[in-house]
Amino acid sequence: MAHPTGANRATVDEDESQTALPTALAEEFRAAGIRDFSIDDTDRAAYSSDASLFRLVPAAIVFPHDEEEVARVLSVARRLGVPITSRGAGTSIAGNAIGRGVVFDFSLHMNAVLDLDPDEQSAWVQSGCVHAHLQKQAKPHGLRFGPDPSTHTRCTIGGMIGNNACGPRALGYGRTGDNILALKIMLIDGTVVTLDGSDASTTFPRLHELVAQNLGTIRTNFGTFSRQVSGYGLESLLPENGFDVRRAFAGTEGTWGVIIAAKMRLVKNPSFTSAVVLGYADMVAAAHDAPLLKDFPVAACEGLDSRMLDRVIDTKGAEAVPPLPEGAGWLVVELTGEDEAELETETQRLISESKSLDSAVLDAKAAAEVWAIRADGAGLVSRTPDGRDAHAGWEDSAVPVDHLGDYLHDLM
Ligand SMILES: Cc1cc2nc3c(=O)[nH]c(=O)nc-3n(C[C@H](O)[C@H](O)[C@H](O)COP(=O)(O)OP(=O)(O)OC[C@H]3O[C@@H](n4cnc5c(N)ncnc54)[C@H](O)[C@@H]3O)c2cc1C
Repeated sequence: MAHPTGANRATVDEDESQTALPTALAEEFRAAGIRDFSIDDTDRAAYSSDASLFRLVPAAIVFPHDEEEVARVLSVARRLGVPITSRGAGTSIAGNAIGRGVVFDFSLHMNAVLDLDPDEQSAWVQSGCVHAHLQKQAKPHGLRFGPDPSTHTRCTIGGMIGNNACGPRALGYGRTGDNILALKIMLIDGTVVTLDGSDASTTFPRLHELVAQNLGTIRTNFGTFSRQVSGYGLESLLPENGFDVRRAFAGTEGTWGVIIAAKMRLVKNPSFTSAVVLGYADMVAAAHDAPLLKDFPVAACEGLDSRMLDRVIDTKGAEAVPPLPEGAGWLVVELTGEDEAELETETQRLISESKSLDSAVLDAKAAAEVWAIRADGAGLVSRTPDGRDAHAGWEDSAVPVDHLGDYLHDLM
């Protein structure tokens, strides 16, 4: 599997990828009966980027219809020594979804919810299934998929697994990897494996050996806090965690195999929610107060900086931002509960125990507007006011909440 920073990039000669390789791949794909692929220059240019500032022009893009086509493309790729990059919506911000060689776009044809079981609270989806599509199918059953990146209107479940995506509600519902019940994957040699969380050491003996040889390092350096999602989640492969390759697969960015389908956990929508905005002098002060939230039934939390609000107002107009409490940095917090009176008590306790300058409890409409600021703002700040790409690459850091205030203080 390819990664823009991966060594296997060297298997494709740069000049060849511009000329001979696309043509050779097209011939192979036609012979293999691949129904939908492109070596068109415009398409290759379009797929040379994701939401990062990295650029790698692929030799070909394949839009597989089914597992069988994926297997045939992998066979061609093996024969020609061409790396593979899987892609969902391409909203990754670190070059995760680009690569020379062949890019699989799963979002076009392999995007269905295959089966939704309300009793088991689970859904089998194809890897290109868009998050919002799954939510729409789950909603009539009072269910939802927990984690929700800001890109939820377009990001795919395969891409969320690839990145072990989180989003504000990962606080309440866990990361994507915490919500995988089973995975159907295809390895580079075409083998199909279904991972259901049971010990997979006999299927992956070399991986098992690698972990056995590095137990100390993995135990002390991996999984030290919940948002440590960069790099491989090898902690899931520790003996005490049952060598759970299904879970470790989350965050592998397509480098361990191709996800064909996934069975994801759905959760019940809470009976009651309460949205609170706490206002602080700045984001550093807000971050210093964030550890307090550990004592509350928080489903979602997000920090909002006044500069992000300014960008939203500049772009979408003042009406896009509801009145917020006094401050220049805010914590937006969603509390949930099954008992309305208890939730109200917790809401008031949060307000009184926080060190905020000011606060507001939002009605549903205002809450939706505030969450939209975060979703829109994250995209808007990835461009300069005159529309050029901003310097992406320092927009996502994972920091334990107890260190967040100090970290932001030093960063600014
Ligand atoms: C404005 C903005 C806001 C964002 N906000 C958040 C956020 O709040 N939280 C968050 O976690 N992320 C966030 N992201 C990052 C990104 O949107 C998410 O990680 C999203 O889940 C990626 O989904 P995707 O379908 O776009 O995946 P892609 O970018 O297409 O792919 C992601 C990774 O998964 C791999 N992959 C995709 N499909 C497969 C497959 N079938 N098999 C194997 N590997 C596969 C790719 O190779 C790649 O490495 C944000 C990005 C932007 C631009």
